[in-house]
Amino acid sequence: LDSNEFRKQAHMMIDFIADYYENIEKYPVLSQVQPGYLQNLLPKSAPYYPEPIESILKDVQEHIVPGLTHWQSPNFFAYFPANGSIASFLSEMLMTGFNVAGLNWVSSPAATELESIVTDWLGQMLVLPKSFLFSGGGGGVIHGSSCEAILCTLLAARDQVLSTIGSDSIGKLVVYCSDQTHSAFRKASKIAGIHSRNFRVIKSTRSTSFALSPHLLRSTICSDIEDGLIPLYLCATVGTTSTTAVDPLGPLCDVTKDYGIWAHIDAAYAGSICICPEFRHFIDGVEAANSFSFNPHKLLVTMLDCCCLWVKDPNALINSLSTNPEYLRNKATDSKQVVDYKDWQISLSRRFRAMKLWIVLRSYGVEKLRNVLRSNVELAKLFEGLVGTDKRFEIVVPRKFSLVCFRISPSAISKCKTNIDEINKTLLESINASGRLYMTHTVVDGVFMLRCAIGATLTQEAHVLAAWNVIKKHADVILNMHV
Ligand code: PLP
Repeated sequence: LDSNEFRKQAHMMIDFIADYYENIEKYPVLSQVQPGYLQNLLPKSAPYYPEPIESILKDVQEHIVPGLTHWQSPNFFAYFPANGSIASFLSEMLMTGFNVAGLNWVSSPAATELESIVTDWLGQMLVLPKSFLFSGGGGGVIHGSSCEAILCTLLAARDQVLSTIGSDSIGKLVVYCSDQTHSAFRKASKIAGIHSRNFRVIKSTRSTSFALSPHLLRSTICSDIEDGLIPLYLCATVGTTSTTAVDPLGPLCDVTKDYGIWAHIDAAYAGSICICPEFRHFIDGVEAANSFSFNPHKLLVTMLDCCCLWVKDPNALINSLSTNPEYLRNKATDSKQVVDYKDWQISLSRRFRAMKLWIVLRSYGVEKLRNVLRSNVELAKLFEGLVGTDKRFEIVVPRKFSLVCFRISPSAISKCKTNIDEINKTLLESINASGRLYMTHTVVDGVFMLRCAIGATLTQEAHVLAAWNVIKKHADVILNMHV
């Protein structure tokens, strides 16, 4: 790596990215390209000779940027945010600059030790019980995604049980979740070899704001035991993907404890907000769980990818996931005095993600991070209030965090025969096609609703007000056509 050339090209790249951010509001938030658009724009094979960075960046601007959906736009309100920050961006550069693959301690001691320290820091910020921290016999690890965290803990739970009942009994293992649990859990169960007939989806109801009922969990478990099956694992959620429902952790863990079931808490989205003391109660009950994970890459101004997972019993993970080939043997591992994170995850090589979390935590400090999260919630309240001022609309599910679920109310079209879901679908398509903002939808309990997820770093009050005006204008046109 020629340092002069690196300096020159890196400056160009930074300028390119700074320009991108300066102009981000000029692009349609949702990419407007058609499937296959890029095939026609790029050559059919890789270049034989090197090309200069100038012409590569020109193609990025002309061909790639139009095919981006701009997640960092202040008008991005879709899915859940993947917000970022200068601190996180610069630390990505640093970790990429070092480009170490800290698979075990010896392969980059700082990468491992920093990860153990920052996961303990973050665990303290969440007031996780000490038993989840290294200082208390547990420990944290940074994965790329919640899907990985769920899969790894499920594998740990599975192997722990199979080691006593024998692997022939895998067909008897049963896992539990609600109809609001993220699809990552179904995928993890498939990969872990849990039979699809033993995947229990417990129905949630509007009366409990779509939270998982401990009572139903217990009766489902009892009936499985009567049938000779073996309850294994519960995936409970704090902040479900559709509507940010919160499962009652304490009562659910009372049930899992009674039956020796592994309880995992998936707080992918809402976990960040729980570093604010006034929101911490949403994870009350976590004390009794076996594992807990959340994604700083959603709301904690930490760029993709970063999912923190804590377990009370690291050995359960290690027993399931460790391999010790000769070519990786070393004295530090043999001493059993170090953490080898390769045994806490699926892949072997791993990025130095602790670097970005460390730099984000230091650059912001706990209080400023809390204020970022609070201001997202305040903006969501503002949006919720605006929806409330217009009788044609309704809030479908009470807001808890920074997501607002709303729709055109059935009463707004009472005289018209068109289905209310169709009207709301048309509204969503119409606002997204405008390029002015991007929102996504969900269907819960048979109701189609729009989701306004606030949390993009650049979003300010003016963007929320403007978004609401766009929505109202499009609603005017649609309702005029139908009513
Ligand atoms: N769990 C919940 C509650 C989520 O909302 C999401 C994604 O939005 C996930 C899991 C999956 O997260 P990841 O993309 O990190 O695997």
